[in-house]
Amino acid sequence: MSYLQKILTQIRQAEAEFQRESNSVKLLAVTKGREIPAIQALARAGQAAFGENYLQEALIKIQALSALGLEWHFIGNLQANKTRAVAENFSWVQSVSRLKIAERLSMQRPAELPPLNICLEVNISAEFSKSGAAVEELIELAHQVVLLPRLRLRGLMVIPERLVNFPEQLQIYQKVYRLYQQLLECGFSLDTLSMGMSADFCAAIAAGSTLVRIGSALFN
Ligand SMILES: *Cc1c(COP(=O)(O)O)cnc(C)c1O
Repeated sequence: MSYLQKILTQIRQAEAEFQRESNSVKLLAVTKGREIPAIQALARAGQAAFGENYLQEALIKIQALSALGLEWHFIGNLQANKTRAVAENFSWVQSVSRLKIAERLSMQRPAELPPLNICLEVNISAEFSKSGAAVEELIELAHQVVLLPRLRLRGLMVIPERLVNFPEQLQIYQKVYRLYQQLLECGFSLDTLSMGMSADFCAAIAAGSTLVRIGSALFN
């Protein structure tokens, strides 16, 4: 069995084990640092959604593989001077944590493309990480981002600290799930909770993830 098949099987098993609806969790293949032929192989095997962290590296891949109609998600740290190329070349940005970046993405999204799909990145363990919006600022940020005409707010993304045991992973992902529920209760219509990586995606699925971002486990 290929690594892709193995991961997809594990995702379906986790859905069943944790009473999640079947096929409610999507796979984002994270291909930073991977060569184009490796991406082509995944695409041939049916994988359609790919995540990249570094703009220059991603642009080369997106252009080389444009005939395949893949869905590209920007998941890296996004600086203001890079927003135009991201708005022009990706269909999702999962790492939005500041209004200024969201405003630029909206302004720079080409008119002939559909709105850019956005996840707000939340900083769930401030002691360990500098990336993401603070929990206290999240709802206000969502209220502002949802007004931007060329963006479509889809949900939340989180990169928690690395924890090795399942109960700790579960606890942190449940916190993010509660934030997501809070936004739904505020009236935002969201459908994406992007959480879970190679080392902890089962806990993320148990906590309510709808999109797991898997890199290393797909390749070795
Ligand atoms: C690299 C990366 C991943 C994938 O991590 P693995 O542990 O290799 O599965 C997921 N999300 C983000 C934001 C990343 O940078």
